[in-house]
Amino acid sequence: MSPRYSLTPHLEGLARHELLISACAACGSQQFPPKAVCTRCGSMQRPRWSRVSGDGRLWSYSVFHKTYLTDFHLPSPYVVAVIELDNGARIYGNLVGVPMPSLRIGQRVHAEFTTDDQGSHLIFVAADKERT
Ligand SMILES: [Zn+2]
Repeated sequence: MSPRYSLTPHLEGLARHELLISACAACGSQQFPPKAVCTRCGSMQRPRWSRVSGDGRLWSYSVFHKTYLTDFHLPSPYVVAVIELDNGARIYGNLVGVPMPSLRIGQRVHAEFTTDDQGSHLIFVAADKERT
């Protein structure tokens, strides 16, 4: 039996190019990564997983000027962002294709999958109407 906070469903979803987010089985609050205890209601039930659109807003970000992982798929500098998904969960990811001077907290973004010779990657891009 896997622990209730396993990321396996999320990782399996990414392999299928689906973004799966965990939600409390008792109150439905979406939280990511899954918590051993729901931060909203205190339930310790195993979370449910559901596919989400990947639409959200830039909640926070940092610009990295050094590549720490040798097989990393983006050239530096690159943006590591915290995205607040429309369902309320927050997830880390790379924000790609937005000129750094125009990064704006609260701007609309959505999830996409890219594939290169190193594999498939979940990235976030500016929503179409805000793309520059
Ligand atoms: Zn809950």
